[in-house]
Amino acid sequence: MTVTSLGPDQVRRAMLKVADVIIEKRDELCRIDSHIGDGDHGIGMGHGFTAARDQLNASTDTEIAKLMRTFGMGVVTGAGGASGPLFGGLFMEGGKSAKGLAELKAADVTRWWRAALDYVQSKGKAQPGDKTMVDALHPAVLAMESFGGDDVGELFAQAAKAAWEGVEKTKSMVAGQGRSRYLGERAVGHQDAGATSVATILDVLRDFCAEA
Ligand code: ADP
Ligand code: MG
Repeated sequence: MTVTSLGPDQVRRAMLKVADVIIEKRDELCRIDSHIGDGDHGIGMGHGFTAARDQLNASTDTEIAKLMRTFGMGVVTGAGGASGPLFGGLFMEGGKSAKGLAELKAADVTRWWRAALDYVQSKGKAQPGDKTMVDALHPAVLAMESFGGDDVGELFAQAAKAAWEGVEKTKSMVAGQGRSRYLGERAVGHQDAGATSVATILDVLRDFCAEA
């Protein structure tokens, strides 16, 4: 079915599904981080998204903005590493951009991810090409901003596709931010872990809409 807006209950369930999938993929995310980082990306993400899931389950809020804030705060407080605050920020910024909204339409989702990208770049200082999560996030946001339709599932599908293309491109990059920058050319050939997580999250949101 075509989804043209997400209400509070759908946003809640979509975020819980994101948490479940990230927790399930924690070993794979660690393995990817182990080639050019310190191998703990999945651990941090696992802890962060477990806390986020628990805090969201404990919340009785019915406002989208508050639910996203609760979830994002959970990630920030539960995750360690450089990426915890950045991944928590994806959802906390979503909460800010959704303030007062009873549902998220395609344009609102696009504003959420633009705010998330701006937040990650302002905090982490990474530019596209630095072999970080920005290399999945930036093309995903551009894909959303050039999407003219109102089908939220298709919006996430296009964003996920662009994000995975971005992940693929990180393989040939030398890192400009994050731990892998110390490896120089030795990082070439390996994809970035944080970018992989971003693309995975967008996949989950696409699948959630497809199953709704
Ligand atoms: P740590 O590097 O502290 O071990 P993680 O392993 O959890 O943190 O996460 C590593 C990921 O974080 C990298 O793959 C990269 O995508 C992302 N990352 C690290 N530093 C930055 C930054 N300054 N800006 C954006 N993303 C970053
Ligand atoms: Mg790491």
